[in-house]
Amino acid sequence: SRVDNPYAGAKVYVNPEWSAKAAAEPGGSRISNQPTGVWLDRIAAINGVNGGMGLRAHLDEALRQKGTGELAVQLVIYNLPGRDCAALASNGELGPTEIDKYKTQYIDPIATILADPKYAGLRIVTTVEIDSLPNLVTNVSPRATATPNCDVMKANGNYIKGVGYALNKLGAIGNVYNYVDAGHHGWLGWDDNFGPSAELFKQAATAEGSTVSKVHGFIVNTANYSALKEDHFKIEDSVNGVSVRQSKWVDWNRYTDELSYAQAMRAKLVSLGFDQNLGMLIDTSRNGWGGTARPAGPGATTNVDTYVNGGRYDRRIHLGNWCNQAGAGLGERPKAAPAAGIDAYVWMKPPGESDGSSSQIPNDEGKGFDRMCDPTYTGNARNGNSMSGALPNAPVAGHWFSAQFQELLKNAHPAL
Ligand code: BGC
Repeated sequence: SRVDNPYAGAKVYVNPEWSAKAAAEPGGSRISNQPTGVWLDRIAAINGVNGGMGLRAHLDEALRQKGTGELAVQLVIYNLPGRDCAALASNGELGPTEIDKYKTQYIDPIATILADPKYAGLRIVTTVEIDSLPNLVTNVSPRATATPNCDVMKANGNYIKGVGYALNKLGAIGNVYNYVDAGHHGWLGWDDNFGPSAELFKQAATAEGSTVSKVHGFIVNTANYSALKEDHFKIEDSVNGVSVRQSKWVDWNRYTDELSYAQAMRAKLVSLGFDQNLGMLIDTSRNGWGGTARPAGPGATTNVDTYVNGGRYDRRIHLGNWCNQAGAGLGERPKAAPAAGIDAYVWMKPPGESDGSSSQIPNDEGKGFDRMCDPTYTGNARNGNSMSGALPNAPVAGHWFSAQFQELLKNAHPAL
């Protein structure tokens, strides 16, 4: 009974809590009617944190917004044991071994609510476990980028089991559309990451009783900043006989942007046995890179670096930077079926919500302090030992960050 693209011909749920925060910002009403993801980022979020809306409250409001038409509601499943193993900013409440608690106190109650016949008319999009599986490829021993926590999560198998369990349980509900997280081109676009990650996605999709048929699609660039489409340089280009792949920015990556990456990853996954009609989502919440620094044309052809650096929209110091990036803007507005193989551009990361605190802030959410969120940090192996590029004075991950919201408005592309 599932449709091929749950976004086609459907409205998408506007989270009233995010909408109110956006509308309270100067200029924010220009985007406060946009749909954003509802993050179930801890067990308590199922019933609502601090008097906020829980899952049933969101789904009841979704039914109201739906009226007699079709509506898609976007949920983010985000609470794996040992969460965020390569970083500290979004560590969660479950320790590395707490897979049973994940199943019985997190996934099972969510599945019970989603299976309520009352909600059968909603198209429920679930994006499953952001930034988890790729860590088991890129941030484990013997690589220089390895972290002890990712080695633990690879060895104990609990990311694979958790994702398999979630896909199987949630995918058994007829109106749920599972989309698995597939990183972004600036993470998995290298040959030694791309194929092994796709194979790992298949391993997870077939774990714990799940099958590839439980996966409707994949989402890329969630909460990241990689540009949708770089117009001023292509991966096939060369300057004075040197390929752009040899530029410092591209650094042998196969892709320059998210659209080309998403389409290639889709083809790879289909070749591994995923559904031929697999649909991709691209999070465009913060990858606009507009504003006064946006290049109007290609860079100088002095060498590959002047060419790429002068032309690229993505103004990050390094492609591996991920926390509260200075200069970022809102990207494409959410839109159904915008390109071949793409089910939708979505704003899964709610604009204005922090990626992590700039300094240590005590909290009861399990969130740590990651120096990638500290603007004075000079980096590590995962960002080429570069400056972090993060905005200062950021609150804990997920908390409202007004200064970032204002930057996103200012640097929106398309402009507001
Ligand atoms: C945080 C979550 C939050 C989400 C959306 C993540 O980085 O860890 O707590 O819900 O971002 O803002």
